[in-house]
Amino acid sequence: MRWSPGPFSQGTAATARPLVIPVFIPHEGCPHECIFCNQQRISGQMGPPVTAAAVGDIVRTWLDRIRPERRTTVQVAFYGGSFTALQERRQRELLAAVEPFRALGSVQEIRLSTRPDAIDATRLDMLRHYGVTTIELGVQSCDDRLLRLAGRGHTHTETTRACALINAAGFTLGLQLLLGLPGDTCASLRRTLARVIELRPSFVRLYPLLVLRGSPLERLYHRGGYRPLGLDRAVLLAAFLKKRFDDQGITVVRMGLQPGPELEQALVAGPYHPAFGELVLARLMLRRTRRILAAMPAGQRVVMVINDRDQSIFRGPRSLNIKRLKQLGLLDRITLHTDPNQPRQTVGVQVAG
Ligand code: SF4
Repeated sequence: MRWSPGPFSQGTAATARPLVIPVFIPHEGCPHECIFCNQQRISGQMGPPVTAAAVGDIVRTWLDRIRPERRTTVQVAFYGGSFTALQERRQRELLAAVEPFRALGSVQEIRLSTRPDAIDATRLDMLRHYGVTTIELGVQSCDDRLLRLAGRGHTHTETTRACALINAAGFTLGLQLLLGLPGDTCASLRRTLARVIELRPSFVRLYPLLVLRGSPLERLYHRGGYRPLGLDRAVLLAAFLKKRFDDQGITVVRMGLQPGPELEQALVAGPYHPAFGELVLARLMLRRTRRILAAMPAGQRVVMVINDRDQSIFRGPRSLNIKRLKQLGLLDRITLHTDPNQPRQTVGVQVAG
């Protein structure tokens, strides 16, 4: 393989993504006990609930740090709990804390995450009133058997109803899914995939299930009642889902939990990798590259064009993709160019003369 930068490789195309200001609302008295959740344990160590004044301080601090040219769209995100399951008074208190920034035009959008059974028309009216634009539902699975085993306390029927209400009300809908729940099989994964596509989300997040300290899953794991996915298997499943969602125009915005010392301290077992998403993208890139070469006459040399920023996923972790292409005798057929105008995670092809 010869590696050469493309003609436009000086600089990278800018992408306009909203700037997200995260506000963490942990647990706050959630009555459920999902098998994978350690929030019950964590919430006792997290101090008092975040106040409206604290929300204002967080937003102000972030805004002070943002360079004006990056302030295209600023989004305040309430993460970590089931927002619409909070008392209505509490929801209003948190949302109203963002109002002054929206009035000044320094914040344009609000996003939040919640449970499917905590959505109804009244709550959606209130969220719209306060400027919420994006709602993420912790769906986890669309298979009732898995939802029951995970102690979720809702069914797929409630997920369907919530998604229909959110879409009809014009919010951007995001869904969070877990891979490797107890009882998960290829058939249940495919069922969930088909049902998620029917739910018409704008985006999804894929999280391989991890066993966290203090969760009911940890107890099950230590009793031998749960075997987590291996890292390779989790990457394979996430790659399978990502490809299907891409084909349907559903954006996969994240794969794998945000790495950090807190997560690493809480981790007991499971397919954790700090760059899980990169592993999945590298796997898909290798597959794409092999397909392109397989479709060419044997021995045909090919110029492949990738985005500048995809060089590490083309190589793969520890250059594993390169090693694999070499093993297969394919590497010498490739001349690689980079071009900032090539869409991310795609490969352009020119047949070499
Ligand atoms: S994951 Fe389950 S138990 Fe944990 S906060 Fe969410 S709804 Fe409550």
